[in-house]
Amino acid sequence: MKFFPGFPASEILYNEDGSVKGVATQDMGIDKEGNQKDSFEPGIELLGKVTVFAEGCRGHLGKQLIEKFNLSEGKDPQQYGIGFKEIWEIEDKNHEEGMVMHTAGWPLDNNTYGGSFMYHAENKQVFLGYVIGLDYKNPYLSPFDEFQRFKTHPAIKKIIEGGKRISYGARALIEGGLQSLPKMYMPGALLVGCDAGTLNMPKIKGSHTAMKSGMIAAETIIENIKEKKNLSIYEEKFKKSWVYEELHRARNVKPSFSWGLILGIIFTGIDQILFKGKLPFTLKHKHADHETLKPANEMPKIEYPKYDNIFTFDKTSSVYLTGTNHADNQPVHLKLKDPNLPISYTLEKFDEPAQRYCPAGVYEVQKENDVNKFVINSQNCIHCKTCDIKEPSQNITWVTPEGSGGPKYGNM
Ligand SMILES: Cc1cc2nc3c(=O)[nH]c(=O)nc-3n(C[C@H](O)[C@H](O)[C@H](O)COP(=O)(O)OP(=O)(O)OC[C@H]3O[C@@H](n4cnc5c(N)ncnc54)[C@H](O)[C@@H]3O)c2cc1C
Ligand code: SF4
Repeated sequence: MKFFPGFPASEILYNEDGSVKGVATQDMGIDKEGNQKDSFEPGIELLGKVTVFAEGCRGHLGKQLIEKFNLSEGKDPQQYGIGFKEIWEIEDKNHEEGMVMHTAGWPLDNNTYGGSFMYHAENKQVFLGYVIGLDYKNPYLSPFDEFQRFKTHPAIKKIIEGGKRISYGARALIEGGLQSLPKMYMPGALLVGCDAGTLNMPKIKGSHTAMKSGMIAAETIIENIKEKKNLSIYEEKFKKSWVYEELHRARNVKPSFSWGLILGIIFTGIDQILFKGKLPFTLKHKHADHETLKPANEMPKIEYPKYDNIFTFDKTSSVYLTGTNHADNQPVHLKLKDPNLPISYTLEKFDEPAQRYCPAGVYEVQKENDVNKFVINSQNCIHCKTCDIKEPSQNITWVTPEGSGGPKYGNM
């Protein structure tokens, strides 16, 4: 077995019959204008009898496969959230190793889906996080600032008071569950984990289900190669596994929160505690997340408090903690289908929400000689994929950047 760390798979390769042949890694050493630098190294082709795509939530190649092979046909639109996580080292007296806390709601309003987690880990550390559904409606909402504000709640503040923030991260999560799970096999390839959407949303846990889907994929490939069985057995095996049972039980939680926080909590209590997820119907996800924003002039502006640099911090100092370091002179990996749209349409209609939904401050609208200009600071991108999901016209596509310049989440 060979590993190629630091070489993203950037292209899907196909056989003449249309089946997946493998992937190509990215050419390295290309400058902003597309010219080869001294460090140029061409990408390589990695071919296999079966290719397994495991890029995590909103995979760049997975998204293309889902579209090309129409894998989401008959499924509900996929749902996403943006999750934030910080690690804090806290005072001994506030630390209770093993303590777990989950909350729903505050500081979000009742119509916006979100909740927090706090795990007291070893070495006086707490893992603190907040997840916000990307189906929110107000373009003035800033998920990053909601998370910062969350830490000022007295119940949280008293735990982290006197402590020190040591890590920050943000990443989209895939939340559609069973209703939105695409077909996971296609000629020559399989999707596993969050590239398909196997996360258990109410638990905010997807590592165990991703691993299990990978194990089922491995069994499938062995039977495919040795016994010439069709790759469709992957889904048959998946449906017989505990992952399917777990996702089936969880399936109605997320859609019920589209009725608001209170009704969502009441329904979830009945569904999960009384009926153990076995109610005889399945609620639907009605909209894709990029369709849910209302025009800015119909929504209230949100004024977020200033950062105090004790509990709350700005995006610049937060991104610094991620260790993100994209070389300046490389092609921008956030592609605009129409470069004029952010100013000519999205700014006017939605006050360009990319300025707020990006948790790394990549997008800015700057005035130059009194003319608005859309600026992409791609070197700050922490690869969360939120822009690719939430941009109302689907005008932004995240593609794999060169090398290993993304966030270094060693201890996350
Ligand atoms: C804030 C937050 C908290 C969470 N907390 C928990 C928790 O407590 N417990 C839990 O079980 N789950 C948790 N999850 C969910 C969990 O992280 C995911 O469900 C899980 O990591 C999915 O595993 P995966 O292997 O499918 O994808 P990932 O873990 O995302 O791995 C995909 C890997 O592929 C790489 N990659 C992507 N594209 C390419 C490409 N084109 N070429 C090469 N490499 C590529 C990525 O860099 C990444 O390393 C949390 C998620 C978030 C955002
Ligand atoms: S540019 Fe997009 S992918 Fe990168 S950090 Fe911002 S929202 Fe996330």
